[in-house]
Amino acid sequence: MKILIIDDEPFILKLLHRQLVSLTDQEVVPCESAHAALAELAADAAQISLIFCDLQMPQMDGIEFVRQLVALNYDKGLVLISGEDTRTLETAKRLALAHKLQLLGTIHKPATREQLQQMLERGANICTPAPPRAVGKIYSAEDLRQAIAAGHLENYYQPKVELATGKVFGVETLVRWRHPEDGLVFPDQFITLAEEHGLIDDLTRVVLTAALAQTRQWLDAGLDLKVAVNASMDNFNDVEFPDFIARTAKKAGVPLTSLILEITESRLMQDPLSALDIIIRLRLKRIRLSIDDFGTGHSSMAQLRDLPFDELKVDRSFVHGAWHNDAIRAIFEASLNMARQLGMKTVAEGPEDREDWDFLKASGCDLAQGYFIAKPMPGSEVLGWIAAWEYRRQELIDG
Ligand code: C2E
Ligand code: MG
Ligand code: MG
Repeated sequence: MKILIIDDEPFILKLLHRQLVSLTDQEVVPCESAHAALAELAADAAQISLIFCDLQMPQMDGIEFVRQLVALNYDKGLVLISGEDTRTLETAKRLALAHKLQLLGTIHKPATREQLQQMLERGANICTPAPPRAVGKIYSAEDLRQAIAAGHLENYYQPKVELATGKVFGVETLVRWRHPEDGLVFPDQFITLAEEHGLIDDLTRVVLTAALAQTRQWLDAGLDLKVAVNASMDNFNDVEFPDFIARTAKKAGVPLTSLILEITESRLMQDPLSALDIIIRLRLKRIRLSIDDFGTGHSSMAQLRDLPFDELKVDRSFVHGAWHNDAIRAIFEASLNMARQLGMKTVAEGPEDREDWDFLKASGCDLAQGYFIAKPMPGSEVLGWIAAWEYRRQELIDG
């Protein structure tokens, strides 16, 4: 088997060659250009086990080369090397991953012996073909329809806490499907299905009804939690929706001010005018509205301009790691500023570690919801979690 290295700078090429030869028994073939590497691939692609490629090259650059690899169905390891700034390297990385190439890693020049060693080890692991990955099971609309009717949907709740005080502000309701054979199925596997087959109204009604009953139980236990429920844009085609919510809340004995509707626009609105009509009526009933996953998809500035939101949830891709990534931090802080100027409460989704928490606390964001605080849990576990959180809260806020 052979390893290809591609770099237009002869000195670097020689250096990499020497480093790799001292680390592996495989033949290491230096290529001064991407064209030379493609010629090797054309001669015998099956012989090539790993490619180290520079990004910045005259004639064909690394990005163009990646595209050629995709066209050739190259399925062995690839390592990108660059002297460019980290953002360029990150972008190239995303591109390679989006093309489903086996990207083993990226290396900032000059490569160290340890980095090369690590890439060789990763390469060795993918050469033994991995067992085919279990693909998420695809469910039919009929399966889902029956599950809704049979009461197989179950609400989980994830706490939201105030960053300044650690106080528990409320929870977000996240639906799960308790499948008799497959266990717990996550919403990514059935929400779109529900939207596409006209089942989202039934689904939302079931989730909302259970969430309001749960809210009543918490109120009875002395807990005043704001309870958020996710709504799909498709729910806003149903003119009866605001009245349904008001009726159900009344039956449950929950004030509408305890409810927050989180709205994500996963696909384009069917009928923007009817949606606007419904959203304004929800507002008149004092139900709070939250714009979910802000910064992604259609959750955009146009929505902020057009709809009267009370809360902005910054998508977790702009939260986790913001403390050490300039680009992510810039977007996060701009979102906070915008929300503040519009008089909205801010929620950071997805803090996963202490660094994220410390960063958010210093940022002035109002609320946080993420694995660092708690994972989603059944309603019955929330009271116990709050008791345990009290101890951690003291350490995080005072300590
Ligand atoms: P979402 O509304 O943005 O909910 C947050 C998702 O992020 C949840 O995934 C939650 O478990 C996950 N999450 C929270 N903290 C962290 C973290 O620190 N790290 C990571 N990696 N993930 C975190 P889940 O429960 O799988 O829900 C996925 C999406 O499904 C939700 O995203 C929401 O858009 C949708 N969804 C859930 N329940 C409903 C529902 O009843 N109706 C509708 N229409 N959509 C729902
Ligand atoms: Mg949500
Ligand atoms: Mg979200």
